[in-house]
Amino acid sequence: MNGRLVFDAPTAPLVPIAQSEQLFPVRRIFCVGRNYAAHAAEMGHDVDREAPFYFTKSPSAICLSGQTVAYPPGTENYHHEMEFVVALDGPAFRVSVEDAPQSVFGYACGFDMTRRDRQQEGKDKRRPWDLGKDVENSAVIGAITPVADFGPLADQAISLTINGETRQQATLADMVWSVAEIIAHLSQYYHLRAGDLIYTGTPAGVGPVEVGDVLHGTVSGVDPVELVIGEREI
Ligand code: MN
Repeated sequence: MNGRLVFDAPTAPLVPIAQSEQLFPVRRIFCVGRNYAAHAAEMGHDVDREAPFYFTKSPSAICLSGQTVAYPPGTENYHHEMEFVVALDGPAFRVSVEDAPQSVFGYACGFDMTRRDRQQEGKDKRRPWDLGKDVENSAVIGAITPVADFGPLADQAISLTINGETRQQATLADMVWSVAEIIAHLSQYYHLRAGDLIYTGTPAGVGPVEVGDVLHGTVSGVDPVELVIGEREI
C-alpha cells in the first residue's frame, strides 16, 4: 500500500469472461434510455429518434450474476430491466459508426435494476435520476462473451423470466439505436476506454420484483444472468 493513502484505494470490480480464467475490470458504466420502442411506449413516451440519451451508474454498483441481494432501501417499487451489455477494451473518441465495433471486447447479459418510484419522482420534479438508477448492486452482469465467440449482431433473442415465468421478450433487432450507433454517439461526448460497459436499454415488460424472486435473463449466444431478491435489511 502507498503510505500516503489514508486507506487502501478501491479496486475495480472484476467481471468473469466466459470459458476463460481472465477477468474484465470495470471502469465506467453507461446506460441507454428508451432504446426499444415498446418499452418507451409502456413508460408513456415516444422514442426520440433524434439522439439516444444516457445515464450512468457507479462502478461500485456492479453485482456479479448468481448472487442474492437484499431488496434495496428507499423504494417500494424496485423494477427489473433486462439488458444487452457491451464491454469495451479499446479507446473510442469521435469514432464513426463503421469504426465503432473495433472498441468492443464482448457482450454480456445484465439487469439495470431500478427504483422506479424514485426515478418517477426525478422525472416529475425535473431532478436527476441517481436515486432511481445508481442503486448499490443494481448493475447486475453475467460472464462476458468475447465478440469472436458471439458472432455478428443480428436478431438474437433477449428475454427475462421471474420464477420461470417470461416477463420480457424481444430481439436485439428491436433496438432503436444499434450497438455501433450508440458507441459512435457516446464517443462524441466521452473518451471511451477499456473497461467501460454500456447497458443498451431494456425491452418492454418491465415490472416490480418481490422478495424471494429469482430473475433469469438470457441473450442467445451469451451466458445468462441471474439474481435472487433477498429480504430487506432491517
Ligand atoms: Mn435500463
